[in-house]
Amino acid sequence: MNWLEFERRHVWHPYASMLNPIPAYPVARADGVFLEFEDGRSVIDGMSSWWCAIHGYNVPELNAAITEQTSKMSHVMFGGLTHRPASDLAERLLSLAPSNMQHVFFADSGSVSVEVAIKMALQFWQAGGRYEKHRLLTIRSGYHGDTFGAMSVCDPESGMHHLFSGVLAQQLFADTPGARNDDEWDEEDIASFKSRIKTHHHELAAVILEPIVQGAGGMRFYAPEFLRQVRKLCDEYDVLLILDEIATGFGRTGTMFACEQAGIEPDIMCVGKALTGGYMSLAATLCSAAVCRGIHADSGGNQDAGVLMHGPTFMANPLACAVAVASIDLLLSSPWQASVAAIEHQLKVELDVCRQMDAVADVRCMGAIGVIELKQPVDVVNIQRQLIDMGVWLRPFGRLLYTMPPLVIRPDQLRRVTAAMASACEHI
Ligand SMILES: *Cc1c(COP(=O)(O)O)cnc(C)c1O
Repeated sequence: MNWLEFERRHVWHPYASMLNPIPAYPVARADGVFLEFEDGRSVIDGMSSWWCAIHGYNVPELNAAITEQTSKMSHVMFGGLTHRPASDLAERLLSLAPSNMQHVFFADSGSVSVEVAIKMALQFWQAGGRYEKHRLLTIRSGYHGDTFGAMSVCDPESGMHHLFSGVLAQQLFADTPGARNDDEWDEEDIASFKSRIKTHHHELAAVILEPIVQGAGGMRFYAPEFLRQVRKLCDEYDVLLILDEIATGFGRTGTMFACEQAGIEPDIMCVGKALTGGYMSLAATLCSAAVCRGIHADSGGNQDAGVLMHGPTFMANPLACAVAVASIDLLLSSPWQASVAAIEHQLKVELDVCRQMDAVADVRCMGAIGVIELKQPVDVVNIQRQLIDMGVWLRPFGRLLYTMPPLVIRPDQLRRVTAAMASACEHI
């Protein structure tokens, strides 16, 4: 295959060496939960293309939404123009999101929606004349994206801080809570967070967290009680709360949004990834009426007060909005709660055997997420080759071998994924 050799020499891949890349498997098409390689082999996608493809691939309803929208218009600028798909999507997002969310900013990727969330928080305090409130507080092991503002709140060790120290904004980090559910709640889990917000609230614009599940920063779960206490502390100390639901949104953890498990509402919320069912890149930043009002308050002196200073070229792309509308409608018309509960149960039962294995440090499952934490970092190339031989696509990182399959995966298909994971762990 000629093009493959060209691609290998000239095209970057995520977090990869250009000069000495690990293999990239050529995919010819995808259908249902399967990816079909150019050589005819087909594998179950246990990653949902990084949390996105909740309905699987080649979904008739989503294909139709794209086709229909293409024949009307694929794109128009959003500055001074608007369209039905954007309004329809905003309406759905606001009806699903916590009830205090009132306004939607459409961004073109998750990282950009995090930048917008940070900007909203900074402009909120600036418009009120509180220029000193410009820093962010988060917890360790987080991941919020690869752009500079987002990177500044990623885990300072596993993230990319060491590459950009001196360039990144210096944010504050509290310890990651240890508990995994409310039964195991220990007041100590909030101690580090509490002491930081107490000491620094005068300079804090916002707290930013992934609710309940921390994704790419370590695949950790924490207790809803932690979030409830964070909400209280943010109110008490006058700090905004940004919840990054980019990975957790749209049913992945068993509720539509993970913050529902804590029964709290954020001030600003980011969604992305599964928003379009994995068809196109789209994200959104939602905010409360109070945050919106604050941004528009003019304390005098500030020239730009009153407008949110952001506007991507492809803002609210109609194709992406139309497919997102179709994806949400499809999700809501499916028995997604029952599907996610069944996936969770099956993951717990079938990954349990791994606990006893020498190479395994921990096994944890929540919703349609199954994580095996190993004692040593995995040999990605080797383990992927074994998994593909067993008909399964996963992309482990660090010491983590994990799956977040499409929510439509059937029990027999999921069994192949868990069996492949167990077998791979056994052979380490
Ligand atoms: C993936 C992810 C992002 C970044 O989204 P991109 O679309 O890759 O820019 C931000 N936050 C969380 C929690 C994510 O999982």
